[in-house]
Amino acid sequence: MHGICQFYSTLSDAQNSSGHQPMPFEIEFGVFCKSDICFFHHNEICPNSPWFCSQHRKNNEVGYLQAWFSEKEPSDKCLSTCIGLGRMALEQCPSDKHLRRLVGELSPGKCRELAIKFGLEVNEWENFEYQFQFQIPDDLKFVAIQFCRGKSRDFTFRMLVRVLEKLELSHHLLCKVLRDVKPDVSGIPEDTLNSPPSNKVLLDLSNHIGNSTMQLAIELDIDSTTIQQIQYKHKTKLLEQTKEILQIWSKKQHPKPTLLLLIKALHRIGKMGSLRGLRF
Ligand SMILES: [Zn+2]
Ligand SMILES: [Zn+2]
Ligand SMILES: [Zn+2]
Ligand SMILES: [Zn+2]
Repeated sequence: MHGICQFYSTLSDAQNSSGHQPMPFEIEFGVFCKSDICFFHHNEICPNSPWFCSQHRKNNEVGYLQAWFSEKEPSDKCLSTCIGLGRMALEQCPSDKHLRRLVGELSPGKCRELAIKFGLEVNEWENFEYQFQFQIPDDLKFVAIQFCRGKSRDFTFRMLVRVLEKLELSHHLLCKVLRDVKPDVSGIPEDTLNSPPSNKVLLDLSNHIGNSTMQLAIELDIDSTTIQQIQYKHKTKLLEQTKEILQIWSKKQHPKPTLLLLIKALHRIGKMGSLRGLRF
């Protein structure tokens, strides 16, 4: 199913014709496509979608390449010497997870300002407010900024840095967005952490997610269309929504749905408490 079993990164001479600042080299990735290796520029990787080789008219799974060069080392805060994201990260298009984490750091008011700077109309923001009035503010903030990304032809971390600066917000918020987390997993054997959680654990957990279903789904890389379908299907039944989200996630192939991954997602959305009393 996933045709990619190996990749190469090559360094080639920069062509200064492109819009961005000159770099000493450009990084390209190669995947086994049809019968040969096809190359593409690193910023052609878009979140949650395969790379389409136009020569062979074939989709190639490249999701993990994105993870490979965008996650920073886990630590609590930026060091005083941190200069922010590297060139390569700046050229990337933020994924749903990244946007969710960013707006999670902003008040609804600040997020509204951010979205409007990205071209959201006031009436569009108000429509979202109406549509999401029964959900937590983090859901509203997320859909608004996701909508901005959808409107824009070229939405990168670099653009986010510029807008954050205009709003006098620290661009180190983006370092946090890309940084891995190290939740407290003491007492859980490593084998258990690296295995898929049991169905019983998933069911027990569903009862403790409350109204953070959508936040959890985004953090677990469930795509927006699927989330919307589940929300529509189960309307106000949050427990049913959460159960289905966790079922879908547990059947994913990439990345492998391990207990550790789930715990990291819970840590990210502030729901570590939901693990209390669970036996793994
Ligand atoms: Zn480049
Ligand atoms: Zn190809
Ligand atoms: Zn930083
Ligand atoms: Zn923490």
